Amino acid sequence: MAGRIAIYPGSFDPPTNGHLDIVGRASKMFDRVVVGVGMNRAKKTFFSDDDRIALMKEACAAFTNVEVQGFDTLTVEFARNVGARFVIRGIRALSDFEFEFEMANMNRRLAPEIEMVFLMTAPEYLFLSASRVKELAAFGAPIVSDMVPPNVAKRLQAHGRKRALRTGATEPAD
Ligand code: ADP
Repeated sequence: MAGRIAIYPGSFDPPTNGHLDIVGRASKMFDRVVVGVGMNRAKKTFFSDDDRIALMKEACAAFTNVEVQGFDTLTVEFARNVGARFVIRGIRALSDFEFEFEMANMNRRLAPEIEMVFLMTAPEYLFLSASRVKELAAFGAPIVSDMVPPNVAKRLQAHGRKRALRTGATEPAD
């Protein structure tokens, strides 16, 4: 028997500690968790497909029953392809709920055999989002390293440095 398999799909642009908290909790609930990094969507991402997959792989390396794959199909198709009967999503606010509720109903129509599983964010990650992280990183805010795994913090710092060099922001103003 293959056991209980779940997917955790998302953009992970970049992975945050909120995402990793969900991965860790899901890894205790299921025999196998496949994190699906969405690729080639109409949505433009800051990090490339390969970067997002690599960052997520590194960040999840400690979880022995978690693997990371890119996917460019419908979420329910990705679930079927890896043999998963469960789709995990994280919920932070009411706005997440509305979006997820609509998606869940669509997924149910497409694949009634697949169950959506919603995990409530841990309170410390309630206001943490990948977009906020990118915004703060663009301004070089040091707080970012508390919000993302160390490998992502390193990448964001490198980006910040490149940006600062391009704009001359590191030069002393006279
Ligand atoms: P998507 O573009 O598919 O929403 P994201 O990478 O933004 O992808 O998020 C992936 C999943 O992780 C979503 O279910 C989202 O609600 C959840 N998530 C994002 N940030 C947090 C957080 N801080 N705490 C808990 N869940 C989160």
